[in-house]
Amino acid sequence: MYKNILKRAKELEMDTANFLMELIATPSFSGKEKKVIDVIKNKMLQTGFDEVRVDGLGNIIGRIGNGKKVIAFDAHIDTVYPGDLSLWDFDPFTPKIENGKVWGRGSVDQKGGMASMVYAGKIIKELNLNKDYTIYFTGTVMEEDCDGLCWQYIINEDKIRPELVVITEPTNMNIYRGHRGRMEILVSVKGLSCHGSAPERGDNAIYKISRIALEIEKLNERLAYDEFLGKGSVCVTQVFFSSPSQCAVPDAASIQLDRRLTLGETKDIAINEVKQAAANIGYPDASVEVLKYEEESYTGLKYPTEKYYPTWKISEDSPYLKASKKVYKELFDTEPVIDKWTFSTNAVAIAGMNKIPCIGFGPGNEIYAHTPNESSPIEHLSKAAAFYAGLICNLNEK
Ligand SMILES: [Zn+2]
Repeated sequence: MYKNILKRAKELEMDTANFLMELIATPSFSGKEKKVIDVIKNKMLQTGFDEVRVDGLGNIIGRIGNGKKVIAFDAHIDTVYPGDLSLWDFDPFTPKIENGKVWGRGSVDQKGGMASMVYAGKIIKELNLNKDYTIYFTGTVMEEDCDGLCWQYIINEDKIRPELVVITEPTNMNIYRGHRGRMEILVSVKGLSCHGSAPERGDNAIYKISRIALEIEKLNERLAYDEFLGKGSVCVTQVFFSSPSQCAVPDAASIQLDRRLTLGETKDIAINEVKQAAANIGYPDASVEVLKYEEESYTGLKYPTEKYYPTWKISEDSPYLKASKKVYKELFDTEPVIDKWTFSTNAVAIAGMNKIPCIGFGPGNEIYAHTPNESSPIEHLSKAAAFYAGLICNLNEK
């Protein structure tokens, strides 16, 4: 059966690539995904999905099968902006096929995963690979701005709770089983403004926040380490201040922190470490808070959340990891590399918050995510489709 799956995926390879080009040609920045959702909806209906719907946040959810067990494949379908267009050799939204690759914004991150998923659905239907499962194929919104928010909505509001979610972000055709979590933290101090000609009368908030910033740099040396996920890290990413004038001592200042969390590091631990760092140099009253995300989705819904994105990894003994390895070997006749993402994905909500196992497998190499001249090998597209269909075949045999 695996040979048939691979053969059919290869036959559909150019269709998959053409669908990816259609997705790239339909820009879909975070919060502005409506048009691409319509493109996906049409393709899912054309390829024989049993049901296609769009939820309140704007996620598209295609379904195949109605078995008791539930599994999902996820691709976020928003992309980042192209950035400086002079760094691109072509128009990022006029995709092309060249040197065996599809080129354009989102080819790697991660419209390629979406294209492969839909064609996996077609193969599952055609080859009749599923009987036990309800399979959801989710095209999710706003991931680039707030990873996992879409899946908080799917789990809490759509009431879908799969036993496994396959994250189709780029893995360069390796199997991934985790990544570090992250948080966005704001540290603020107050000062006292006075005329800049006599600074000794005031209390300069920028001096205070600068001393705290240097303590944050040192905090890196004390953060936790995990053998698989690596080290936690923290860095100052932005500085803010307020002052009555350019000739005045500033009365308030803040720094924003990008904190990456390794296994065992939680929100409370991270907040306390920052409070302690500020206290160490004499500012126990510094305010330390997790930032909030409350942007509107394209449907007009606000679904606020804290910018806390918990760490996750699944065990090497996970039956889903074992099944994935077996499918990979059956299809490609070689051992898979098991690894992790450097960046963060929707799995922060699925696995990190809700403890639902996730497996990562997707076309393209993550080193090209968010870069100019982004591209993904066409061959990856059909192989990923074969892997997704093969996994459904394998899980149905159990
Ligand atoms: Zn992504």
